[in-house]
Amino acid sequence: MQKKILIMLGLVVAVYMVTAVYSPAPRQPLQKVQQEYFREITGSIRKGETLFDVFKRYQLSLEDLFRIREASASVHRLRRVCPDQPYTIRVDDQDRVTDFEYWIDDDSVLCITRNETGFTAEKKPVAYEKRLLHVGGTIRDNLIASMGDVRDSLLLALQLSDIFAWDIDFTSDLRNGDTYRIIVEGLYRDGEFRKYGDILSAEFVNDGTVNSAYRYTLDGEADYFDREGKSLKRAFLKAPLSFRRISSGFSRSRFHPVLKIRRPHQGVDYSASVGTPVSAIGDATVIFAGRKGQYGNLVILRHANGYRTYYGHLSRISKGVRTGRRVAQGEVIGAVGATGLATGPHLHFEMRIGDRPVNPQQVALPRGKSVPSAQQENFQQQVGIMDRQLGALTHTAIAMAGEKEGAAGGK
Ligand SMILES: [Zn+2]
Repeated sequence: MQKKILIMLGLVVAVYMVTAVYSPAPRQPLQKVQQEYFREITGSIRKGETLFDVFKRYQLSLEDLFRIREASASVHRLRRVCPDQPYTIRVDDQDRVTDFEYWIDDDSVLCITRNETGFTAEKKPVAYEKRLLHVGGTIRDNLIASMGDVRDSLLLALQLSDIFAWDIDFTSDLRNGDTYRIIVEGLYRDGEFRKYGDILSAEFVNDGTVNSAYRYTLDGEADYFDREGKSLKRAFLKAPLSFRRISSGFSRSRFHPVLKIRRPHQGVDYSASVGTPVSAIGDATVIFAGRKGQYGNLVILRHANGYRTYYGHLSRISKGVRTGRRVAQGEVIGAVGATGLATGPHLHFEMRIGDRPVNPQQVALPRGKSVPSAQQENFQQQVGIMDRQLGALTHTAIAMAGEKEGAAGGK
């Protein structure tokens, strides 16, 4: 048993720390004509530029471009290329294109190579080296202010908020002094950090309550579970205002959502600016969508087990949200407003069963699929490994990581 764990640990360490290179299959040996290229052109697509412009600038054969486009048509359309995406073109001594590579996005690259008759195109995964990174910190003001609002930190914060979306309302539950620790894949290329991959485990201490998440693959699908192997997913999200939707929308203007929450009556009022997207907290059928007295624009959803949720004072109701329609958990059903009897823009939210109001926080509903007992041993081994990783994340390490990467909040 002890030995098995050690072997597992060794394996994991090896996989993540040393050889975790997601290399695509080694490049096929190039055919003779391509082996000796004469010059290599590298660059990034400029704003408003097409490949036609690129080829003209470097005085490359437009016939080659035509055939390259043709060859790639079934793999990736090259008619529209995106600004800032890098490309590499190799040409032989007669200025004939031998290779063309274009980064479609962060994860895939289009590789086009000359063959005897023309060109062949292939979409390949970008080769990243994976390293295990520790990120941690203490909440000051809100999650994004604490983790940093550079693109990568923001995406990591959103990933974290998605994982705990059923347990923590990141728009209004956070307290100064809450702490988080994250083990996340760092994706590196050419020795340089490029972006974060998946969070492998996370801990968020909210107002003294420890929330843990472990990534584990069940039936080929990766998901997050608590320490006991119970799914973190539940029938209802913690809040009808999605931290992800609010934060990604406002991130560019560096606005950090600090929502106020009041419970003046049978329900919850979320103050937020007009237009903030409102999401269904669970899968449901729309049973009312329209104007109703003091509620103003109102959507009522019927969920499983007789629960109904009310979303009032909306400035607008999303297209397609009509009586009888199904909506999915997290789907945007409207936007915050001040219609009906409202002193300022806010979402009036309430939950009822029959005619009786219920406190959404106290509704105990079944969670998603748990780790089956046959896999518990394996799962617990992974939990142990991840806990050791999280445990290594001391406050000193957090502070140092914060200085180095700018991704973690201080001590
Ligand atoms: Zn209200």
